[in-house]
Amino acid sequence: MIRVTIWNEFIHEQQEEAVRALYPDGIHGALASGLRTDDLRFECVTMDDPDQGLSEAVLNRTDVLVYWAHWGHARMEDVNVRRAAECVRNGMGLVVLHSGHYSKLFQTLCGTTCALEWRAVGEKERVWCVAPDHPIAEGVPQTFVVPHSEMYGEPFDIPEDAKPVFMSWFEGGNVFRSGITLKRGFGRIFYFEPGHEKYPIFYQPEVLRVIGNAVRWAAPRYRGVHTTPKVENLEPIRTE
Ligand code: ZN
Repeated sequence: MIRVTIWNEFIHEQQEEAVRALYPDGIHGALASGLRTDDLRFECVTMDDPDQGLSEAVLNRTDVLVYWAHWGHARMEDVNVRRAAECVRNGMGLVVLHSGHYSKLFQTLCGTTCALEWRAVGEKERVWCVAPDHPIAEGVPQTFVVPHSEMYGEPFDIPEDAKPVFMSWFEGGNVFRSGITLKRGFGRIFYFEPGHEKYPIFYQPEVLRVIGNAVRWAAPRYRGVHTTPKVENLEPIRTE
């Protein structure tokens, strides 16, 4: 059983009628019910919860954190971001969705600005799987269409060890590394671009399949604290 915590800033759904109509239980609620299977157990938290949803207690019972955010990035307190980033380095999995690319958490773990080009006109997106042997691509078609999407385009300022599993083409001509993996410390990270709040993207079966696969791939194999202990020699040292 993988313990999944879905963290949603939960601002658009409360402030915009159209988004609330699309996601009446919040983006977190739609993801929790869309991803439900026997091997995953879900807990949903939002920025309004204690420690902005990233308390030690929550993180301690989380195997994989799924993260959606947009307007609230600047409101995240550094202490909460640091705590979550440390958990990733110590082995917790992280799945960052859509505009979460610009969150302090993702930026901290990437070490880059994570800036990109964007355009929100509802154009068509075609997603291509470029690593069909990757576990996150299992059961996902080689290509699928998101009928209406926000364009995120290259250049995408992510670190050079980011490995693409998906790439996207947008109707307006742009391309983007829309699904990438990273490893930080013992933690596995997946970023996936589809998920603009104004379209029913988190109800789309291919998108849910990718996110579900990513959660299973990011689940920790090992958890431990990175330290720098001074150690005694095991063998005698005769070097003068
Ligand atoms: Zn968006």
